[in-house]
Amino acid sequence: MIEEKLKTIIRDIHDFPKPGIVFKDITPLLQHPEIVAEAVEAFADGLKDVEFDVIAGIESRGFLFGFLLAQKLNKPFIPIRKQGKLPFHCISESYKLEYGQATIEMHEDAFLPGTKVLVHDDLLATGGTVVAASKLIEKLGGEIAAYCFVISLDFLNSAGRLSRFSENVISLVRYQ
Ligand code: 5GP
Repeated sequence: MIEEKLKTIIRDIHDFPKPGIVFKDITPLLQHPEIVAEAVEAFADGLKDVEFDVIAGIESRGFLFGFLLAQKLNKPFIPIRKQGKLPFHCISESYKLEYGQATIEMHEDAFLPGTKVLVHDDLLATGGTVVAASKLIEKLGGEIAAYCFVISLDFLNSAGRLSRFSENVISLVRYQ
């Protein structure tokens, strides 16, 4: 099963980026192209009954699998980036972090109103990042078709924060 394989490869980094935090590091996975391919296949399989037009991936680890999946499913890929990184006119959304705030942006011509968007990031923790991404997508008149993550930290109970946008949440690895 892909979940067990991924769990053995993803490693815990203690005290990163700050003391007390256990960071799930997916970089070892990138050294195993055959397991990356299986993971992309598992996303495609999980999404086979979901109708969507484009994939939006969140900087920066959301670009890794997001773009591979977009290529596999022959869908356009839309980058959502931190403030000041995208070159064209952007729309922005700010959200609260534990300390301070962050702003993410998307090009204002990323898609047309009514587009069904699959949102991808490597990991779902509190949900703050994907909620902000979802608001950004709705500002442009997009509809959230589903979310997909490599990892979700289910013990943080954040799926409820996403349900007002979409109930479809696919995660390859769950930590209870
Ligand atoms: P949230 O906004 O859901 O609290 O945090 C998710 C965002 O922070 C994602 O963009 C994700 O890349 C990053 N993130 C938070 N914790 C981790 C972690 O333990 N591992 C990885 N790979 N990313 C994390």
